[in-house]
Amino acid sequence: MQQYVRNYLLRIKPYFPTLRLAASYLGVIMVMSLSFSFVLFHTGAQEIGRQIPNSGVYSQMTNVDQDIFDTFFQARIDRGRHELIARLTLLNIFVLLGGAAVSYVLARRTLEPIEEAMAAQARFASDASHELRTPLAAIQTENEVALRNPKLSLSRSKEILASNLEEVTRLQALSDGLLRLARQDNQEIELRAVNISDIAGDAINQFIKPAQQKNIAIEDKVRPVSALADHNGLVQIVGILLDNAIKYSPAKTSVWVEGGTRNKQAYLSVRDEGPGIHRQDMPHIFDRFYRADSSRTSQQVSGHGLGLALAETIAENMGGAISVKTKMGKGSTFTITLPLA
Ligand code: ADP
Repeated sequence: MQQYVRNYLLRIKPYFPTLRLAASYLGVIMVMSLSFSFVLFHTGAQEIGRQIPNSGVYSQMTNVDQDIFDTFFQARIDRGRHELIARLTLLNIFVLLGGAAVSYVLARRTLEPIEEAMAAQARFASDASHELRTPLAAIQTENEVALRNPKLSLSRSKEILASNLEEVTRLQALSDGLLRLARQDNQEIELRAVNISDIAGDAINQFIKPAQQKNIAIEDKVRPVSALADHNGLVQIVGILLDNAIKYSPAKTSVWVEGGTRNKQAYLSVRDEGPGIHRQDMPHIFDRFYRADSSRTSQQVSGHGLGLALAETIAENMGGAISVKTKMGKGSTFTITLPLA
């Protein structure tokens, strides 16, 4: 029996916060309902009591037995009061049942966004630790195996050091990404009029070398338009999009950076001739730590799935938005839209 009760309590434990909040809502409703009932009963009972005629009325009547009249009126008054109590009790039972249902619905509505935020936080922590564990485990295993080898040659030691350094660089990129995301969360950015053509120029300059290494041409087609944004934030977004375009595109292709005005807004877009994005990946590419399977398994394409999440957060903090259009085998276009200055 005890075991059964414990199991039952464990099963309903997740509902405890909702039930507790619903109980406090119901408490407030019942206090109000009972106070109203008390006032209603008081005024009602007084009104009913006014039925007894005062002694002045009797003195004007002849042949009247006052006692019979009093008993008759008292019985009516008692009946009236009992009826009033019965009705108010019934009303409060209805308020209790209806209030319980309403309180539960309201409590669920209040707690749902909080629970979602907490679940997202937990998911983020678990994803981050998973990403950290993989390179750390690689470093640990490699070093342990090397230390156990008494005939470790100098060239093999150098190989291991180089591989460790590679993993450390990956970890550094991950911690940089996490730090940048944490800084951006709910940050208020001061917006100024910026020239989107200058922004594109600054971002492109940072990627000339990696583009050259893959023989990728970056075409700058941005018109000088004034947008309301944060200069560094916008350079960072275009940088993330350019980085992805170069990373995921095959060698000897082109990447276009285009910009201007469209639908009374400023826009900046990065278009590539890469592999495109699968339809099933599209709803998730802006999620933190999400990488399409093709990018995850491919050894050449480095990353932790934080770039687009960061780009979207910065864009939203600036009052802008990012959208994507893609065609498998043809390429992708990421577009940032911003208010005109
Ligand atoms: P990362 O590049 O580190 O994996 P991102 O958040 O920048 O993380 O991108 C998330 C995923 O979106 C990538 O893993 C990749 O699958 C997909 N993606 C982003 N940009 C492109 C692109 N230009 N072409 C094809 N796939 C892309």
